[in-house]
Amino acid sequence: MTGVAVIGGGIIGLSIAWRLRRKGIKVTVYDGGDDDAAWYAAAGMLAPAGETSFGQEALTELLLESSRRWPAFAAELAQESGLDLGYDATGALTVALTSDDLSVAQHEWRGAAGRVPSELRDLEPALTPRIRGGAFVPGDHQVDPRRVVAALRTLVDIRAGKVSELPPGKVVVAAGLGTAALTGLPVRPVKGLVLRLRGEPGLLRHVINGYVDGRHVYLVPRADGEIVVGATQEERGDFTVTAGAVLELLRSAVDLVPDLAECELTETVVRHRPSTPDNAPLLGELRPGVVVAAGHHRNGILLAPVTADLIAELVATGRADPLLAPFPPGRFA
Ligand SMILES: Cc1cc2nc3c(=O)[nH]c(=O)nc-3n(C[C@H](O)[C@H](O)[C@H](O)COP(=O)(O)OP(=O)(O)OC[C@H]3O[C@@H](n4cnc5c(N)ncnc54)[C@H](O)[C@@H]3O)c2cc1C
Repeated sequence: MTGVAVIGGGIIGLSIAWRLRRKGIKVTVYDGGDDDAAWYAAAGMLAPAGETSFGQEALTELLLESSRRWPAFAAELAQESGLDLGYDATGALTVALTSDDLSVAQHEWRGAAGRVPSELRDLEPALTPRIRGGAFVPGDHQVDPRRVVAALRTLVDIRAGKVSELPPGKVVVAAGLGTAALTGLPVRPVKGLVLRLRGEPGLLRHVINGYVDGRHVYLVPRADGEIVVGATQEERGDFTVTAGAVLELLRSAVDLVPDLAECELTETVVRHRPSTPDNAPLLGELRPGVVVAAGHHRNGILLAPVTADLIAELVATGRADPLLAPFPPGRFA
């Protein structure tokens, strides 16, 4: 096969390019830079629960399949690049502050046994004594998306600069939000703010999914003491960090873990989830020679392994895995 051009060097384009290269195919990635890349903000929660709604069984299956592929994907990438990805499979706690919050949070437990507050505080001593209940979700894991992208960049050929039209030959369009301008497909921005705090390493031991007086917040601790606090979700495309959005996230975070008030606030960052009309990804051939892998909405980090494997197989052999069938890129035409 002659070479393949991958348009977009975010987590999806880079993962596909890496998998294609492992099949012996020559790949060039064209990338427009980090300024509007969603992975740069992403917390890196690999949590297939609570991400899909009724009627989205095919998407749930794709999320679960990708979750199963993450351990091997992380191990191979860490080994080939020689870099630490911050991959962690300690599991997550879902916790609720009030009894109303508890009834919402219970939808996320997927059969995990509910725990009383003292059990939750044994697992995570920094939690406020005010929590009403919660659960330990052992299957959830996390990774640092910035480290994943840095590792992938060592393994593929990248040309810097936005492309304004598709080059001739075999092309994979994995340009996140940029996919709309390149293909005409309906990918829209969904704004998200995340904060990064820095505290004592070990202040938190698990990813925490919190329900706090009707608000949802997640806390993702890294081994070096960084804690990612996320995320807002708004149907808009601007980059403004509003005081209200920062306040909402910090209030929820500190209500759950009072010691977070002592941490340094090191970063506020807005990016946009590349989203589609049904919030499921666009995966497959758009027309002969042009394959699309975009629109991963809230789950592009989680979905990177399965997207990379299935799209690389499609490009290399022409075979479309049945898992791709529900997500044709032209389905909104
Ligand atoms: C606040 C926030 C928190 C998130 N948290 C999580 C999480 O915890 N877990 C999870 O699974 N997902 C999370 N996500 C979602 C995840 O970040 C995205 O789904 C994922 O990054 C999509 O990957 P992508 O490679 O398709 O797009 P991006 O990461 O946006 O990358 C697209 C790349 O394409 C390039 N590009 C665009 N146009 C062109 C062009 N014309 N020419 C060349 N290059 C181009 C851009 O420069 C960019 O590098 C979060 C997203 C946000 C915004």
